[in-house]
Amino acid sequence: MFDTLSDRLNGVFDRLRGRGALGEADVREAMREVRVALLEADVALPVARDFIARVTEKAVGQQVLKSVTPGQQVVKIVNDELVAMLGGEGADATGGEAVPLQLDVRPPAVIMMVGLQGSGKTTSTAKIAQLLRTKQGKKVMMASLDVNRPAAQEQLKVLGEQAQVATLPIIVGQQPVDIARRALESAKLQAVDVLMLDTAGRLHVDEALMAEMKAVASVSAPTEVLLVVDALTGQDAVNVAQSFSGEVPLTGVVLTRMDGDARGGAALSMRAVTGKPIKFAGTGEKLDAIEPFHPGRVAGRILG
Ligand code: GDP
Repeated sequence: MFDTLSDRLNGVFDRLRGRGALGEADVREAMREVRVALLEADVALPVARDFIARVTEKAVGQQVLKSVTPGQQVVKIVNDELVAMLGGEGADATGGEAVPLQLDVRPPAVIMMVGLQGSGKTTSTAKIAQLLRTKQGKKVMMASLDVNRPAAQEQLKVLGEQAQVATLPIIVGQQPVDIARRALESAKLQAVDVLMLDTAGRLHVDEALMAEMKAVASVSAPTEVLLVVDALTGQDAVNVAQSFSGEVPLTGVVLTRMDGDARGGAALSMRAVTGKPIKFAGTGEKLDAIEPFHPGRVAGRILG
């Protein structure tokens, strides 16, 4: 992930740093190269354009160009803008830290997991459940609302056993909204802190899926609606996020397969295009292969 982008940017910045004095033309030339590198990493065009405009505006300022280490100053500006691009600034100004889950409500806090089939939704549900149990000492319950895909409910049950997290018993034939109601009742009775609803996926975003998501959201009143998308799908992941966010009140994104050799476009464009923070990154198939998404650290890795 980010390897090519990282190599390219470091090439540009090594050249900038190597020069004692910098003129405006040098900065503009470097930014042209950065723009190409971003586009090659599959960053959405308007996002790349905005980024370059912001960096250029700050970098051609007299204080930067007249400073003792202008190259270094420009790299610092790029770093800060990269953190912002990855979601480290804005409405939930976190200064580069991960945006935490909002679970501070009367229990059970409901986390609704949404996404297309194959994105890694069921796996991510179990990963986050395990994380909440082991790192935050939460009593968690998971329920699968996926009545479309054969064996989806069974898959969550097996993952629950591995993660040592309870799952709602399966009643064959029960429909998603009814399962959600039953899960809530059960979670209340058992004094569960966090109820995770693994909703059904589809191959594509369609009306039936959106109607189902809205119905489930209205009976379960989730405090978190996390969209799971596959980093390897690049701009498609961002488009999927845009489609979902128009329909259901997303609170964040889980970007899976960050361990694959994705170019990075989804991670870099997600915040700007959807306004939603990436809250977690999936980094493998195992249940502990998940990390809170820290914009600061990711930017550091890119410019490392
Ligand atoms: P769902 O259809 O969206 O529920 O997808 P699943 O959770 O069943 O995941 C589909 C496949 O992707 C499974 O084989 C998972 O093990 C795999 N998977 C999920 N997340 C990741 C990840 O972060 N990295 C890798 N390498 N594989 C993942």
